[in-house]
Amino acid sequence: MTASQPSRRSSQPAPRQVRLRAALEDIPTYVPGRPPAHEVAYKLSSNENPYPPLPGVLETAVEAAGSLNRYPDLHCSRLLAELAEHHRVPVGHLAAGTGSVALTGQLAQSVAGPGDEVVYAWRSFEAYPIVTQVAGATSVRVALTAGEEHDLDAMAEAITERTRLVFVCSPNNPTGVAIRRGPLERFLDRVPGDVLVVLDEAYREFVRDERSETGVPPAEGGGSVPDGIELYRERPNLCVLRTFSKAYGLAGLRVGYAVAHEPVAAALRKTAVPFGVSQIAQDAAVASLRSEAALMRRVAALVEERARVAEALAAQGWTVPESQANFVWLRLGEATADFAAACEKAGVTVRPFPGDGVRITIGEREANDLLLGVAAEFRRGR
Ligand SMILES: *Cc1c(COP(=O)(O)O)cnc(C)c1O
Repeated sequence: MTASQPSRRSSQPAPRQVRLRAALEDIPTYVPGRPPAHEVAYKLSSNENPYPPLPGVLETAVEAAGSLNRYPDLHCSRLLAELAEHHRVPVGHLAAGTGSVALTGQLAQSVAGPGDEVVYAWRSFEAYPIVTQVAGATSVRVALTAGEEHDLDAMAEAITERTRLVFVCSPNNPTGVAIRRGPLERFLDRVPGDVLVVLDEAYREFVRDERSETGVPPAEGGGSVPDGIELYRERPNLCVLRTFSKAYGLAGLRVGYAVAHEPVAAALRKTAVPFGVSQIAQDAAVASLRSEAALMRRVAALVEERARVAEALAAQGWTVPESQANFVWLRLGEATADFAAACEKAGVTVRPFPGDGVRITIGEREANDLLLGVAAEFRRGR
């Protein structure tokens, strides 16, 4: 036996437990939005779409279910071809995943490991710390500004030799604030070309750029909220994530996608679980893309509700950051748990982040009204 061979196990009794990687030890668990606990109840805790699937989508899904004995199309060919046309990008720059949350994990695994750093804003999407830790890499969290925005200067300064990946979430989950063109481009210019930037645009469809639409001059250096897919074209280290879970209303089917140059797109194809995206999901996503007009009407209705809810909350005296997503954020600090409990008692579930605040999804009108009632009462009681 040579020294380089692993030594044989001795005849001592074997340890009883499987040895897991130490990196898994204190990984925070992903907290799903709580289901409602009452009879008349609304779930405003997971940023889901309150509407049923778009016209034609359910029929398409049912038809695809007729082939459940078959594996799905491994390459998601029809979906990616449709997306390539939709966004005018090469099909080789696209990768589908079982929700864009799966893609965040694949990206972390592709570029970061032990000793590497992953930079992201905090608070932001709760999957980032999880996927970073699973990859064995180290999280570097950069606090949001007092205005609940990404502090992009501080994030650029947090990049070191060890940084391999930066997550940028716009609009940011859970605060709803979107990043404008000037600051985002200046940030991207500062990131070294060998560091991957993932721009997570899960809520892109809900962005309404009032400052540019109303002709009001943008804030200094601000400008409109850019479309990541336009930015990626000139930037080989930028990967954009989109999902069918939010505006498109297909959260239950698990399908999202990435737009990135090679070799990032190729890495996503390599790290995907084979046949992960079901045929039902692929076909429903294609049908949803073809239902663009109906999608836009629904998104417009939710955006209108968002404005109504935000204005009503502001009128009650709350500070509400300008949300460009399908939710609003209330920074409640120590009162977070009490507020969430009051909502639950009234028949609406919201998403509390203990000690920080609550994220409230914009839902059906009655649900939003119920929420506004709780918020008003809570305010009076403080
Ligand atoms: C909801 C969400 C996603 C992805 O959701 P999937 O259902 O996995 O596609 C990704 N990023 C952010 C910030 C989200 O809020």
